[in-house]
Amino acid sequence: MQNTASHILSDRIMALSESQTIAMAKKGRELAAQGHDIINLSFGEPDFQTPQYIKDAAKEAIDEGFTFYTPVPGFPALRQAIADKFKRDNNLDYGPENIVVSTGAKQSIANAVMCLVNPGDEVIIFSPYWVSYEEIVKLAEGTPVPLQGRLENDFKVTPEQLENAITSNTKVVMYSSPCNPTGSVFDEEELLAIAKVLEKHPQVYIIADEIYEYINFGGKHASMASFDFIKDRVITVNGFSKGYAMTGWRVGYIAAHKDIATACEKMQSQITSGTCSIAQKAAHAALLGGNESALEMRDAYRRRRDLVLEIMQDIPGFKTNVPTGAFYIFPDVSYYFGKSCNGNIISSALDLSLYLLTDAHVALVSGEAFGAPQCIRFSYATSDDKLIEALRRIKESLAKLQ
Ligand code: PMP
Ligand code: GLU
Repeated sequence: MQNTASHILSDRIMALSESQTIAMAKKGRELAAQGHDIINLSFGEPDFQTPQYIKDAAKEAIDEGFTFYTPVPGFPALRQAIADKFKRDNNLDYGPENIVVSTGAKQSIANAVMCLVNPGDEVIIFSPYWVSYEEIVKLAEGTPVPLQGRLENDFKVTPEQLENAITSNTKVVMYSSPCNPTGSVFDEEELLAIAKVLEKHPQVYIIADEIYEYINFGGKHASMASFDFIKDRVITVNGFSKGYAMTGWRVGYIAAHKDIATACEKMQSQITSGTCSIAQKAAHAALLGGNESALEMRDAYRRRRDLVLEIMQDIPGFKTNVPTGAFYIFPDVSYYFGKSCNGNIISSALDLSLYLLTDAHVALVSGEAFGAPQCIRFSYATSDDKLIEALRRIKESLAKLQ
């Protein structure tokens, strides 16, 4: 199969890269299964259990017989609860007709891109970006246009940069805030300045990925859809994976203009149908229970962020911003390029991440797939003990590079 794959498989799949976050997590797991003491900081996944009241709701859903197909865009009660959440948390007015529930926010993003992008359309992606954005755009035969935020500006793209990047072919702008992988967060003023640029380009739609909304260590979360003058062009993506520690349940959603929501529903009706009935019941309970458990987890992430930042100060050559959300830190590690240990030359972040995997037994994700080949991503959604030990090992391994 290996040699003949290119004859058998479509150009589409041959051109697609494997998700590097998932690939690195897989590599870490494989080495651990072989008996290596691997600390896995590669996967962006809360280490917390899903709160008990949510699990209880899922058990109840099974006992009550919620085992059938659901409406494609989600149970009406869940869509209403999501609309209520937008009002409560973001002061946004949506009805259930604006909401489409999907099998994870990843599918929500894929639906939106597939429904908006024609072959050749340009999609501006604020960079560093989450690995799947670029690949999903390529699947839709769009042209990804990464727009680089500088470390000195907290990795944030500026309104001027955006203005200069928009062309008559630009169809979509997409970004995450809080950001995976940089942890940077646009505040309301910064988002407004970006919105003002977009106001001038009515052909451009905005996919605003807010899945880390509740993991924000700074001020209040700001939503692009809160600016009325562009609201109809904003597709807000959110979900339950991060805030409620529900990665395995696979529930994400969008809020969008009704025409876009209906298009996403049609797309989904031919690919997956409605997501798991039991997971939807659990998600409904999660929302009705408020966001207290999410905020408790946020406090734990903030403490870990501080811990990691403090230890990293003692690691020579790591340049970072101060993440104000999500659970990642994304140091620039280019200081180590050109150094070597026992003939093992480090010429890229990928080389460095492989060296740290084999020498320090810590799994990280190299920045190439995030559009930042000079950086490495650490996920700090793990225990203090593991973080301390991982950073100790990394420091020791890096010290061997000359
Ligand atoms: N957006 C971002 C920025 C992410 O980090 C992730 C990873 N979970 C997703 C979307 C997809 O989330 P889900 O697990 O709901 O598919
Ligand atoms: N979003 C997480 C990450 O960035 C989970 C893995 C994935 O879905 O890509 O690591």
